[in-house]
Amino acid sequence: MSSRCYNNKTCGGLQNVVDISSQRPLELDITYVCDMACLQCNRALGLIGSHEMMTIDQVSRVLHESASMQRPYLEIRVLGGEPTLHPHLSGIVDTLDWYRRQVGNCSVSLWTHGHGEQVKQEIGKLPAWIRIRVSAKQPKVVGEGFDAFLAAPLDYQESHAQDYWNGCGQIAPGRCGIGVSPYGVYSCPCAAAIDRIVGLDIGLTSLTDACDERFRKQCDQLCRYCGHFLVDRGVQVSTETVSDTWQVLRDRYRTHRPRLVRY
Ligand code: SF4
Ligand code: SF4
Repeated sequence: MSSRCYNNKTCGGLQNVVDISSQRPLELDITYVCDMACLQCNRALGLIGSHEMMTIDQVSRVLHESASMQRPYLEIRVLGGEPTLHPHLSGIVDTLDWYRRQVGNCSVSLWTHGHGEQVKQEIGKLPAWIRIRVSAKQPKVVGEGFDAFLAAPLDYQESHAQDYWNGCGQIAPGRCGIGVSPYGVYSCPCAAAIDRIVGLDIGLTSLTDACDERFRKQCDQLCRYCGHFLVDRGVQVSTETVSDTWQVLRDRYRTHRPRLVRY
């Protein structure tokens, strides 16, 4: 753990990340394609849809990096977007199979909305060692079951001065994992999704570079856009909200989509 002293009195976010990193799952957002467009999707896919996706080589690379570590990641989650819509899912499954044989004692799950013929067919082709987690989201869902992800804390006076450095309770042990996107490794998958839109291009270029200090720097720059941060601090915001900053980001993305370096 870094020797820096952190003020962590307001949330259960990043604590001893280096020590616990192999206890957090590794979450691979293999594609940002999704046909649901839930408004408060915490990959922002309802507001700013995308066809960006990880290649098989990128998935293979991050899994090789994990396998090379003294304590490889023991839980791999395959997400998106809708992961079954990745055109090379079978190749990704082969890579995951290699990993679980290599590491042993490792769980692999795929998280899907479970809707539509194509999705159901792809689920039916998956091997039994992949645990299927069905969220059963409904098309164009606005409110129930979602936080107001599109409420950027920097648009709210009560949270503007808060310390983003610690992240939020979403990344506490037992909750979401370390995020991997086409653009690198992040403190959480929401941070990865925010960066694809904000365009800071601060994904780590190797899983082996992951450490407390680097994840905190990502949080410091990206959590200010994330509505989970407000929820974590008890700020009530309607789930129909698209705050000013997110409206600006949406408009800017339409004309000047950020170009990030691929992982
Ligand atoms: S189904 Fe999931 S990934 Fe797709 S838009 Fe809704 S919340 Fe996002
Ligand atoms: S990006 Fe959002 S979910 Fe991730 S640590 Fe920051 S506030 Fe929490």
